[in-house]
Amino acid sequence: MSPAGAGAAPDWVVLLLSPWVLALLGLCIGSFLNVVVHRLPTIYMRGWWAFDVADFALGDKRSWRSAFGSAAEPPAELAAAAGAIHRQLEASPPLSLMRPRSRCPHCGHQLRAVENIPVASWLALRGRCSACRARIGLRYPLVEAGTALLFAASAAVHGASWQTVVTCTAIALLVAMALIDLDYTLLPDSLTIPLVVLGLVAAAAGVSVVPWKDAAIGALAGYGALWALGVLWAVLFRKANAMAEGDMKMLAGLGALLGWQALPGILLVAAGIGSVVGIAMIVFRGHKRETPIPFGPYLALAGAAALLLRGRFVEFAEGMLPLLGG
Ligand SMILES: [Zn+2]
Repeated sequence: MSPAGAGAAPDWVVLLLSPWVLALLGLCIGSFLNVVVHRLPTIYMRGWWAFDVADFALGDKRSWRSAFGSAAEPPAELAAAAGAIHRQLEASPPLSLMRPRSRCPHCGHQLRAVENIPVASWLALRGRCSACRARIGLRYPLVEAGTALLFAASAAVHGASWQTVVTCTAIALLVAMALIDLDYTLLPDSLTIPLVVLGLVAAAAGVSVVPWKDAAIGALAGYGALWALGVLWAVLFRKANAMAEGDMKMLAGLGALLGWQALPGILLVAAGIGSVVGIAMIVFRGHKRETPIPFGPYLALAGAAALLLRGRFVEFAEGMLPLLGG
């Protein structure tokens, strides 16, 4: 494979990276993303209990003594709580992205291979578990179909090039981030950091849509822009910084992938969609204004659009600049 425009790719690469083949791959990756979205937060939360809470309770005598005096001992309750957490963790069945095989969340029925075919199985079973008839959310086939559509669009836009590979990888990460943030207001480092690395490595290898300098500045500017917005918000409204670090890393990733020039457009589009949805939630769903609304899903939407229509995003931001008084 070669960077776009630098010569024709071999036939088998053209076939492999054609929209139809990538749509099929997108269905399978979408199916895997459903598992990731379901399990990664659990794995993450278990890690939090194991390392942040239990180990802190067990091991941090030093900070206890520096706070309460050199002879002070942490209370026995702390150690007891840590022990209880560790016992609970040991009693929980092991969980990874690959194992165990997918089960019905209602009855524990282990899905057979034929019940695990993206979209088709859901349609054939009419959205119900074959064992207990409990409803299986419409979200599962939608994520699979949506990923397939975005993969096919990437192939259509970028052709048989490394950019298609980079774009599809980024889109898979964005889909997982959007859904986990929607469910848990959480953007795990294990998804945001790979997005940054993907953008920087692709640019350094010369297979990105942007030169490495624009990617590096984009990563820093993406992180910095949201950090600065958060600080501004905190100062203006005398509140805690509303921007989570996960959002900053996510925008850093988009900056690394698409260059700093694409950031204003991404932010404007994300904020635009976010405002419309946020107002609709407050008006129609009685959403409390104080409850944080995750920003990740909107960043993911705008980011995915920018991965496919980067030129439009750059033009859009340039068109908006005079309106903002530039
Ligand atoms: Zn079931």
